[in-house]
Amino acid sequence: MLTLGDLATWDFPGTALAVLGHPIKHSLSPLMHNAALAELARSNARFADWKYFRFDVPPDDLPKALQELHARGFHGINLTVPHKILAVQEVATIDAAAQPVGAVNTLRRTAEGWAGFNTDGYGMAEAVREGLGLELTGRPVVLLGAGGAARGAAVECLQRHCASLWIANRTADNLAKLLAQLQPIADGVPIHGFAPDHIPTELPTGALIINATSAGLHPDDPVPIDLARLPKPAGVFDMIYNPPLTPLLAAAEQLALPHANGMAMLVHQGAKALEIWSGVAAGQTAPMMAAALAASR
Ligand code: NDP
Repeated sequence: MLTLGDLATWDFPGTALAVLGHPIKHSLSPLMHNAALAELARSNARFADWKYFRFDVPPDDLPKALQELHARGFHGINLTVPHKILAVQEVATIDAAAQPVGAVNTLRRTAEGWAGFNTDGYGMAEAVREGLGLELTGRPVVLLGAGGAARGAAVECLQRHCASLWIANRTADNLAKLLAQLQPIADGVPIHGFAPDHIPTELPTGALIINATSAGLHPDDPVPIDLARLPKPAGVFDMIYNPPLTPLLAAAEQLALPHANGMAMLVHQGAKALEIWSGVAAGQTAPMMAAALAASR
C-alpha cells in the first residue's frame, strides 16, 4: 500500500493506474485489475508494462494527490470512499452522464488535467442483467437508501427509463433532498418517496428491489425493508458483497425470490473503468476480473 509520500521518489517507468481511498487496505480493485492486465498482456504487448497501484489518501490530501499523480504521468485513477464526491471539484472535465450523479469514480489523464467519469451505474445495470436477467428499462424499481450509492443508482434508473422509481429511506430529510435533486432529470419517469415501514398500497408487482443502504454490512443489521410486505418483486439486488448473503438477500431466499449481491457490480464498474483507460471492451475484461476475485476467495 502506498501513500502520497511515495510519489516524491516515484520512478515506475510503465503505464500506471491507481485506486485512491481512505481506508484502502481491503480494496479488491488492485487484484482484479492486475489480473486482467496480466491476461491482456499475454496477447498484446502494449499491456506488458501496465500496473495498478493503491494509495491511502486522506480526504484533505485529495487535491494535492491528484495534482501529483498527474505530474508523475499516471494514466488513470479510480476513486473510492470518501473521494467520489470531493473529486468532482478537482477534474478538468466531467462526463455528461456523470454530471447528475455528482460523483466520479474513474479519472482519465488528459493534457489539461483529469477527465472524470462514473462507472458505478453501468456496473449496477450489468450486474442486475447478469445476476437476475432483468433490464432497468421499462421496469418499476424500488430503491432503498438516499446516500451516494443510491443517488448513482437512481440516476442510472432514470437515464435508462425505468417504468417508475420508488425510493425508501430511514431518514426523511435525506430522502426529501434526494427526491428534489432527481425531479429535474426525471424525464417523465414517475418518482415517489416513502418510509420503509409505511409501504404505499400503489407499489406495483414485478418491481426490481435495489438495496443501496449500508444496512447489511454487519451481521446484526436490520433488513432495510420487509420483503414479505411488498407486492411480489421480480428480483432483489443488494449492492453489498461482503458478507455475500446479507439479511435482505437471506429474506429473498426464504421467499424464493431471484437475488444477487454486489460482487458483479464491483467487477463491471472496474471493467468499464479499464475500457475508459485502454479502449478494451468491458465485456472482454469483466470475466477475467470475476475469475480473479473468485480464485482469491
Ligand atoms: P452513504 O453513507 O452515502 O449512505 C448510506 C445509506 O444507508 C443512507 O441512505 C442511510 O440512511 C442508509 N442506512 C445506513 N444504515 C442503515 C440502517 N441500519 N437501516 C436503514 N438504512 C440505513 O453510503 P453509500 O451510499 O456510499 O453506500 C451504500 C452501500 O452501497 C454500502 O454498503 C456500499 O458498500 C455499497 N456500494 C457497493 C458498490 C459495489 O460496487 N458493489 C459501490 C458503491 C457502494 P439514512 O439517510 O437514514 O442515514
